Amino acid sequence: MDIQTKLLQKLDDAQSEMIEIRRYLHEHPEVSFKEKATSKYIKDFYQKIGCDTIDYGEGYGFVVDINGGKPGKKLALRADFDALAVQEDNDLPFKSKNDGVMHACGHDGHTAYMMILARALNELKDELTGSIRIIHQPAEEVSPGGAKGMLEAGVLDGVDNVIGIHVMSSMPTGSIGYHQDETQTGRANFTIKIKGHGGHASMPHLSNDAIVAGAYFVTALQTVVSRRIDPFDTASVTIGSFDGTGSYNAIKEDVVLKGDVRVMKETTRKTIRNQILQISAGLEKMFGVKMDIDYDDNYPVLVNDAHLTQQVVHAIKTANLLEVKDVFDCGMQDPSEDFAYFAQDTPSCFYYVGCQPEDGKNHPHHSPDFMMNEDCLIVAAKSAAIATLDYLAD
Ligand code: MN
Repeated sequence: MDIQTKLLQKLDDAQSEMIEIRRYLHEHPEVSFKEKATSKYIKDFYQKIGCDTIDYGEGYGFVVDINGGKPGKKLALRADFDALAVQEDNDLPFKSKNDGVMHACGHDGHTAYMMILARALNELKDELTGSIRIIHQPAEEVSPGGAKGMLEAGVLDGVDNVIGIHVMSSMPTGSIGYHQDETQTGRANFTIKIKGHGGHASMPHLSNDAIVAGAYFVTALQTVVSRRIDPFDTASVTIGSFDGTGSYNAIKEDVVLKGDVRVMKETTRKTIRNQILQISAGLEKMFGVKMDIDYDDNYPVLVNDAHLTQQVVHAIKTANLLEVKDVFDCGMQDPSEDFAYFAQDTPSCFYYVGCQPEDGKNHPHHSPDFMMNEDCLIVAAKSAAIATLDYLAD
């Protein structure tokens, strides 16, 4: 039996175990940078099968190295394990037991398939050429993210390429989506504190109204994308919070705005930031207010290496896996991902595994009724297995 047949057989044999692990993790979610028990649970699994774990970064992230019998390239496979501050609204036997915390993005699934895949690869390591670094990453959901810290600690030193997977509830189960080059948006977040001068509502001429300045800011912000970004390029800018609670008869002294920026290209990032600063400077003069901006450029645009992506896609397509019904170019995806830091450092491929639930309804990521069709787990495990073997054999 060749190594590929053996590896796929091991994954088939462990499909129900993969689902059990995913359900355990789903029941016991922990938010970003607080995944102590989750990390321990995964480490215990590796300890039982005789694999050493090595910590990287300040969080609970760690790696497992699988060294093949013959020297060769080194490929990293990454799975994130944090959950979100969301109250689960699903009626499941393995519903979250932690109040206000939920695996609402599918990272429980990423971790489950990766643990089983790592074990199967480890059992066959003598037959492998090259080596594999399994990255179990914390805190994908919260800036600065877990990837950055692991990267700064050297997690990709000596690694030639990285592959990552995200399950996608908008894509049919059994499908695999990919896109080369720019594949997920880059992100920035900002907080603006507008400080005016409060006063009596009947005497506006003696005050500097922070609410009016804030309203102008929100309006002017709408022109950033429409008037300053090339229509062939695009971006999105959103104010998600405008905190100006006050009373009927007093002019508001201060308001706080919170906003989110998404870009499809890194070059757009600077334009948007500069526009926000310029609008603010203009409004300060116009309304006699002070605008303090805390601007956080965080996750980069996720850029998939074209060559590696084509190689991964070719390998998955030609393997003709029974579980994979469709491999398609899904175009750029709207959300942001801190895998982008890995991809910025080392040529990478991040692709999507459809996990649309059986009921055919929309269960968006990060929502209280997020759900996955667990058949996606074997698709993730097998496709990553195929991509890994093909890559190491090349
Ligand atoms: Mn996610």
